Amino acid sequence: MSAKIIDGKEISAFIKQQAAGRAAACAAAERAPCLAVILVGDDPASQVYVRNKHRACEACGITSLQFALPADTAQAELLALIDRLNNDAGVDGILCQLPLPSHLNEDAVTDAIAPEKDVDGFHPVNVGKMLAGKDCFLPCTPAGVIEMLKYEKIPIAGKHAVVIGRSNIVGKPAAALLLRENATVTVCHSRTADLKETVKTADIVVAAVGRPCFVTADMLKPGCAVIDVGINRLADGALAGDVDFAAAKEIAGAITPVPGGVGPMTIAMLMMNTVKSAEARLGMRKG
Ligand code: NAD
Repeated sequence: MSAKIIDGKEISAFIKQQAAGRAAACAAAERAPCLAVILVGDDPASQVYVRNKHRACEACGITSLQFALPADTAQAELLALIDRLNNDAGVDGILCQLPLPSHLNEDAVTDAIAPEKDVDGFHPVNVGKMLAGKDCFLPCTPAGVIEMLKYEKIPIAGKHAVVIGRSNIVGKPAAALLLRENATVTVCHSRTADLKETVKTADIVVAAVGRPCFVTADMLKPGCAVIDVGINRLADGALAGDVDFAAAKEIAGAITPVPGGVGPMTIAMLMMNTVKSAEARLGMRKG
């Protein structure tokens, strides 16, 4: 039997609708939530991401401030802008689109954003709070993975979740969030000896490797849930995930496509984080 295809467009639309409702309540009470996005340089992929974030803000009733800085912007100049936004009571979220030009220190920039405005959830304070199970901004892509599982009512607690990839932005936080949801979590990575055998025991597979067709159907336990975070550009220009979707959907119980799976969730979670930040700043926090 073919797997249930998890529709990231539908789920992200649902989240954005909720965010829009709460943003409207903020606007009615005092002001709309406000997200400041900083883009340094002219990387085409980053420009697309920033444009998409701006559009999502518009659709949700969130004010979007955009700062496009030249590629040769000095570190001090960038930090001064972040400092100004940190101290602007009308700004709820600040994000600096990565990657930055090589002369800029990404860690220093991430650390400079006030944790209470860090809607990307990358600041070490928020990473620590996430690990400790405290209230904080959760990183958008891994939070989107959990949201998809919950929306589809796929049980997490007590299940074996295998995350493939251990990056700081996807793999590690996805593992931490699955653990928070009481899964038994295994993290596989480039040095894992028995990856195929391990994945075969998973009830939930989260693939965040960055290699097309890395996860093949023979690696999957029948009926498992497969969340494909990978976004790979193929030679013919098409997008593909990390999973051999056509074959895997015949084995899995539920699976996300690429495109139209995890991708749209990331921006939806960013909108929700920005709204939550505004609610906290305006004293109308719902959690
Ligand atoms: P990354 O390159 O930082 O990390 C990749 C991880 O895969 C590493 O931890 C590495 O250990 C692991 N890996 C590499 N080769 C492996 C192998 N042969 N066997 C097992 N593990 C191996 O990448 P990332 O930033 O975590 O992104 C992963 C993928 O997710 C990329 O395709 C990226 O484009 C995509 N992504 C999607 C979204 C989204 O919104 N959907 C967001 C972020 C990243």
